[in-house]
Amino acid sequence: MTANVLGVADGRALGCSTRVIVTRPRSLATASAAVDEVLAAIDLAASRFRDDSELSRLNASPDRVVGVSPLLAHAIEAALRGAELTGGAVDPTVGSAVRLAGYDADFDAVPREGAAIRLVARRIPGWKAIQFSAAQRTVVVPGGVELDLGATGKALASDLAAAAALQAMGGGGVLVNLGGDIAVAGEHPLDGWAIQASEDGATPLSDAEQTVSITSGGVATSGTTVRRWVRGATVLHHIIDPATGLPVDTCWRTVTVAAGTCVDANIASTAAVVMGERAPAWLRAHGLAARLVHVDGSVHRLAGWPETGKSKADPTIL
Ligand code: ADP
Ligand code: MG
Repeated sequence: MTANVLGVADGRALGCSTRVIVTRPRSLATASAAVDEVLAAIDLAASRFRDDSELSRLNASPDRVVGVSPLLAHAIEAALRGAELTGGAVDPTVGSAVRLAGYDADFDAVPREGAAIRLVARRIPGWKAIQFSAAQRTVVVPGGVELDLGATGKALASDLAAAAALQAMGGGGVLVNLGGDIAVAGEHPLDGWAIQASEDGATPLSDAEQTVSITSGGVATSGTTVRRWVRGATVLHHIIDPATGLPVDTCWRTVTVAAGTCVDANIASTAAVVMGERAPAWLRAHGLAARLVHVDGSVHRLAGWPETGKSKADPTIL
């Protein structure tokens, strides 16, 4: 534990705003440099918006055994684990479905309005179509399948960036926030890391907003209200229902989860949006603290998520 004098650095990476907070302000530059290095490496390995990324080259090499870097292997492994844990609600083979829905460039470059597009419901290929060997670090992506690591990849980047910053600082504690995917490592402020659960990451910090406090692990938020766009008369968003390949028609507009890692929190938050009414039972079964905002605006709290004010949501390992 440490006194609450923190160092804070804001930036932008991976198509979202970033924040690094350290418990020892003198280590801020060291921590930020370590975080930047991890984010640049993840972008080069796993971005679907760069033709020169390893993921783009993998997607362009169908039906072939492709050797991948340790970092891309780690990201693919995390994505496949998420698929397995959620019965395929979170599934990295959503790539072409996300692209066909109109999210085909860094989100800042996706027009918020445009002419109607014709979308056809079609089950996504499914994660079991991917042949992955962790031991050999090889992958086969069948023709017609596009891997998308957008969900677990950003959360993995938070976990890895927090760990790298801690190592570079040689002590102290750090929080890394990538557009709502938050990981902490090392020592924590006196009352833990206070995290404001807002629907939009751009919401200013305020006493009126609810915070949870964590001392390890991560918190992730997924939702349909921030990354959305309109084509014709149809509102589209970035979370795909694997059963239809279309933006999911869900009862939750925002879900925030605390877990043992940011990857696990994000697997659960994305899955909850996809699962809809089945989500509370699934989250409870895994003992995960969660805050779900219904499309009617009502807020539902599970497994120790605090009712009001600052208190503690114990992170659980999925
Ligand atoms: P955010 O990017 O706001 O943190 P998520 O973590 O839920 O939100 O990730 C959403 C991203 O994951 C989408 O932009 C898309 O690239 C990808 N995605 C969409 N639907 C799914 C799904 N059902 N399973 C896995 N990844 C998905
Ligand atoms: Mg996320």
